[in-house]
Amino acid sequence: MNPEVYDVTIIGGGPVGLFGAFYAGLRGMRVKIIDSLPELGGQLTALYPEKYVYDMPGFPEVLAKDLAAQLIRQAMRFKPTVCLEERAETLERVDDLWVITTSKGVRHYTRTIVICAGAGAFTPRKLDAEGVAEFEGKGVYYGVRDKMMFAGKRLLIVGGGDSAVDWALNLYPIAQEVTLIHRRDEFRAHEHSVQELRRSPVRVLTPYEIRRVYGNGQLEGAIVFHNKTQEELNLPVDAVILNLGFVASLGPIKSWGLELQGNQIVVDEYMRTNLPGVYAAGDVCTHPGKLKLIATGVGEVCTAVNHAKSVIDPNAKMFPGHSSDMQLPPLQ
Ligand SMILES: Cc1cc2nc3c(=O)[nH]c(=O)nc-3n(C[C@H](O)[C@H](O)[C@H](O)COP(=O)(O)OP(=O)(O)OC[C@H]3O[C@@H](n4cnc5c(N)ncnc54)[C@H](O)[C@@H]3O)c2cc1C
Repeated sequence: MNPEVYDVTIIGGGPVGLFGAFYAGLRGMRVKIIDSLPELGGQLTALYPEKYVYDMPGFPEVLAKDLAAQLIRQAMRFKPTVCLEERAETLERVDDLWVITTSKGVRHYTRTIVICAGAGAFTPRKLDAEGVAEFEGKGVYYGVRDKMMFAGKRLLIVGGGDSAVDWALNLYPIAQEVTLIHRRDEFRAHEHSVQELRRSPVRVLTPYEIRRVYGNGQLEGAIVFHNKTQEELNLPVDAVILNLGFVASLGPIKSWGLELQGNQIVVDEYMRTNLPGVYAAGDVCTHPGKLKLIATGVGEVCTAVNHAKSVIDPNAKMFPGHSSDMQLPPLQ
């Protein structure tokens, strides 16, 4: 049986990959999206679904999860094939096609590829302190999926970056009480957020770290310590939220023969990589003037997809025309 061949396969279903899928559909291409996560949306869904994004054209403010939902709706207009929980592992050239093999052992055949893998397959940086692994998912969390889970609870938030400070500010109005500890006296978070934190009812302890968490079946508290004096404090808490950053790696993509600069794929002005028919867009790529933002990433993927269209169909122009002049199938 002949394999199904797609015009373009997009690796990564974050905001950039989703917009790329929409644009490829608009150009009449057969599109497939592959993502290692169980749901689409990339960082918007996995890392900060409850945070507001303020720098999307036409959206003065929008929750990340709502932005993801709209991007998914837009991407699905032309009914792309979506393969979730599949990590792209290997890439090989067979005649004039590319074959991507995934962690499920599936071989995906495609004429072109747009890599929108963001920071790569990411995992939260784990804390190696007594009790933490035992209570993970049952009182100790590495992110906030649904902030109402923490309503009325006594919370300990750990970290000094934007995520830790933003979650402290987001959660104190609904929690019973919030304590934030950080191992340094200075925060990496935005100055404005740190000032807001200082004015808020959040109890801030620095330079403190977790020694252990404890409980009997369910989390009851945490022992934290001043990392200069070693003085310990017992904090009775119902939940601990750890924001220690993420460990991200391009993983297998690094061995595909792509030109890399650190953890990023080098592209030219058409978003082409050094491999024929393989493009990259969004956080995963780099070029002079690169900004890691959604607004710029969706522009990059638009260029990548339209260029790919003009390559696989020599009669097609790169410029797609104006969508406002087109008749589109109805939104679902
Ligand atoms: C806390 C926080 C707040 C932010 N706020 C803003 C903001 O206000 N405005 C803004 O513009 N940007 C913001 N950003 C940055 C923004 O989220 C990123 O620029 C954006 O998500 C990049 O989109 P992407 O599609 O390139 O990558 P991602 O969103 O990272 O998506 C990449 C996808 O690729 C998948 N993937 C990776 N490797 C593989 C593989 N081998 N096989 C299959 N799938 C794979 C991943 O699972 C992931 O779903 C924020 C980021 C964070 C962390």
